[in-house]
Amino acid sequence: MTDMPPRRRGFRPPGRQRRAVALALTRIKVPREEACARCFRPQDDCLCARAARIENRIFVLVLQHPQEQRKLINSAYLAQCALARSRVRVGLSWPNLSAALGSPARPAEWGALFLKRDPQPSGKAIDAYTRRGGRHGELPPIAGIVVLDGTWKQAKTLWWRNPWLLKLRRLTLNPHAPSLRPQARAAGLSTIEAIGLTLRELGEDPALAESLVDQYVRLVLEPAQRYLREGAHRAPDGGAEDSGAHEDDGGQAG
Ligand SMILES: [Zn+2]
Repeated sequence: MTDMPPRRRGFRPPGRQRRAVALALTRIKVPREEACARCFRPQDDCLCARAARIENRIFVLVLQHPQEQRKLINSAYLAQCALARSRVRVGLSWPNLSAALGSPARPAEWGALFLKRDPQPSGKAIDAYTRRGGRHGELPPIAGIVVLDGTWKQAKTLWWRNPWLLKLRRLTLNPHAPSLRPQARAAGLSTIEAIGLTLRELGEDPALAESLVDQYVRLVLEPAQRYLREGAHRAPDGGAEDSGAHEDDGGQAG
């Protein structure tokens, strides 16, 4: 596949602080009264007007666990604001792919993206599997991808509650570089990084993934660092209702 993109600084606290910072970040939620009604970001950091629009070919459907929606660090709405062909749906289950997408779609032409919890060293950044579990030698043509947005635990819930996902091809990522956000687990990527890597590996213009990552650093990570410095008092109700999930955080979350 193509060369890896250039290294960016991102937001990488020293190793001993990483887990604490990662957990603190997931606990910052945007209070309802301060949030943009469309992108759920704080008004001052609203993505709607800031995100640079990108024309993509492969549709991106993000199924977002309801507990992710108001997390400051969440990057799913950046996908929706930046990618011309994308949609975020918030919920736990949909009867089939077309219902989740809101328009007719053929499952055989779609892929469902998974990030392995403990990726094996692999020469490929992405592996594709048939519905029966066999590995594709070549990546098959894909019309759209489904991305589950949440902690590992939440993503697992979405997976089990939407058995139609089994009809899609399974795509697994083996990222060569760590996430630009602090992660409790080294293998994790943010949702937007996973989308960028997948689209690039499926043949979209590498500049598209570059732009997504640039916007992620500028519009999500840098504001998150600022909020962290200012203190989580900005989110009086943050983190209380789903603190149990945080132990399992740091995967394909946000
Ligand atoms: Zn907005």
